[in-house]
Amino acid sequence: MSNDANHHRQLIYAKGEMSDLIRSLDDQSTPLGPMSTWPAELLNALNLMLDSGFPMFIWWGPELLQFYNDAYRVILGSGSNSKHPDLLGGPGKDHWQEIWPNIWPLINKVLTTGESVYLEDQLLPIYRDGKLDEVYWTFSYNPIRNANGKPEGILVVCTETTRLNRSQRENAEQREFLLNMSDQLRLFSDPEAMETRALDIIAGHLNADRFGFAKTLIKGEFFLIERDHHRNGVKPLKGAFPAKQFGTDIFETLLSGQMVMYEDVRNEARLSEQHRRSFTELRIEAIINIPLFKNGKLSAVFFAHYEQPHYFTIEEQVQIKQVAGLAWDAVLTARAEQELRLSELRYRTLFESIDEAFMVIEFSFSDDGTAENYRFLVTNPAFEKQTGLKDVVGKTILEIMPDVEPTWIRTYGQVATTGEALRFEEYNEGTGGWYDVYAVAVGKDTNQVVVVFHDITQRKMEEQRKNDFLSMTSHELKTPLTAVTGYLHILKKRVTSDDPKVPDMFERTIKQIGRMTGIINGFLNIAQLEAGQLRIDRTHFDIVELVKQAVQEAVATVSSHHFSFEPTGPIHVSADMEKIDQVIENLISNAVKYSPFGSRIQLTCWSDGSTVKISVIDEGNGIDKADQDLIFGRFYRAVDDQLTSASGFGIGLYICKEIIDRHGGQIGVDSEPGEGSTFWFTLPVAG
Ligand code: ADP
Repeated sequence: MSNDANHHRQLIYAKGEMSDLIRSLDDQSTPLGPMSTWPAELLNALNLMLDSGFPMFIWWGPELLQFYNDAYRVILGSGSNSKHPDLLGGPGKDHWQEIWPNIWPLINKVLTTGESVYLEDQLLPIYRDGKLDEVYWTFSYNPIRNANGKPEGILVVCTETTRLNRSQRENAEQREFLLNMSDQLRLFSDPEAMETRALDIIAGHLNADRFGFAKTLIKGEFFLIERDHHRNGVKPLKGAFPAKQFGTDIFETLLSGQMVMYEDVRNEARLSEQHRRSFTELRIEAIINIPLFKNGKLSAVFFAHYEQPHYFTIEEQVQIKQVAGLAWDAVLTARAEQELRLSELRYRTLFESIDEAFMVIEFSFSDDGTAENYRFLVTNPAFEKQTGLKDVVGKTILEIMPDVEPTWIRTYGQVATTGEALRFEEYNEGTGGWYDVYAVAVGKDTNQVVVVFHDITQRKMEEQRKNDFLSMTSHELKTPLTAVTGYLHILKKRVTSDDPKVPDMFERTIKQIGRMTGIINGFLNIAQLEAGQLRIDRTHFDIVELVKQAVQEAVATVSSHHFSFEPTGPIHVSADMEKIDQVIENLISNAVKYSPFGSRIQLTCWSDGSTVKISVIDEGNGIDKADQDLIFGRFYRAVDDQLTSASGFGIGLYICKEIIDRHGGQIGVDSEPGEGSTFWFTLPVAG
């Protein structure tokens, strides 16, 4: 034996465990017989193989007896179930039953054709360490030829690529998982249900004891957990937890985009005793916190808790990050969509239910930029009700109403081109109704206009009836009053009485009747105004003279106030003298009404050559800024306790304004409360 061994030593000269084993092979244990009789090709190949640090083995002879080197032996694994050492010198087929059907054709090919075979990343599961292992191989089968060139055996150079493949496979699995999860989450529209489902799905992938998404509250002072997923027997966590309790700067770290991970809380040097206790009281021995960002803002923190220390591989960290990120993104998207749906619903409800008719129209313009036509894009139910027009969307106004009044297209078109909103009341012959209309452009350069309108035909008709009534009553009253005034004047001359008070009483009666006539004239004016019948009869006259006469009249009839006016040279205007006189009288009588007994009322008349400005200046209580524009409106009276005694209807200034407007002049007031008022109006000077 020792002789043989020595002899063998000379045949197999490589060093190493497998060299020793091969040398010590019992001559009888292989069909090859004593080593001294082994062919030189085999011995050469064996030596080459045993010297190699790369995993190699040889199949030799018809039985495909297998010999392998140290590097290959490592791949075979160890333990009682390992193929090593029985495999050594044994027939390949007996030892590789699990993969023989896969590899035999390759072996056969090499032996019969002499061509080598090279394959990469082949899955050839083998039994090792007591179980069938999914092993990936990259290998080449090379023929070992005899002196005649015929293949007698195979030298296999191989390497296991399982690790590489596993991580690739895991990546693929992870991708599939993520895809699967987003597919499943897509079925949810309610963000909360989706979050719960996401946690369930993650549970199948992550072996943490508890996990979920926490929100940060009050600039990161608290973590808020609304729901979590926990393993059976693990306590759920719910509520707000102060961040400071679980580590210094934990929020700042998360905010900077880094995760916070403690693999073994009890032995974590970065944590203070007190921080560690906060964790262990909740039975948390390991934790990973991953910040989740949306639009650059920290929007939530994914947390996973473990009741035992847990060591996170890089792959695991990446996986958790990806899964949490994807799930949270889906939840956020669902939330945003829910918000959008809600706000859409709110607008739709409003849109469907309001009484106001609503339409969006789009304009087409001619080459020179004038609005030609518009198409209805959107209308609401009230639109149909108010206009009686059905199924207009998609059609143009000219298709629906070929003879529509061009002003409608022009007016809305103007809104589209200028972008300035318009509000107006208008009669539409097409529908036979009056409308109160508000039109506003949609954004910039869209050629679209939103129009909100409602039918005011009823109101207009009522106003008309009221106007007719007012005008009729005023007319009816005016005639008897004129007669009464006439008779009074006659009576005043005819009646002789010893009573000295009688003439004064006549005077007073005539004055009161005069006031009544004034009021009724006001009503008549209003009725005329509303009906568009206020006529301006222009003549050429000197306005200074007119003011002078009005002041003289006031001095003669009003004893309670001091009037002053310093006439300049004549200033001619082309105006309705009677109506301008009415304006001046109105301003004077207001000044009397709204300023204290004994105070001064001053009139001025001043021209710059093109316009003349007449002012009535009093020392009354003045007018609040807020009221200054409003008092020129119809039936508007400024509320002032001290003045409630002054009678009136709030129509005087309204009529004045209408009259001045129609003359192309302006009317206004300058006043500070408590400082008196200056009412003024302007007229163009006659050329
Ligand atoms: P009326 O005097 O009949 O109420 P007007 O249209 O003439 O109606 O005036 C509208 C309101 O303007 C008055 O109710 C009053 O509050 C305010 N006003 C008019 N003139 C003066 C004035 N000179 N000083 C203070 N307030 C005035």
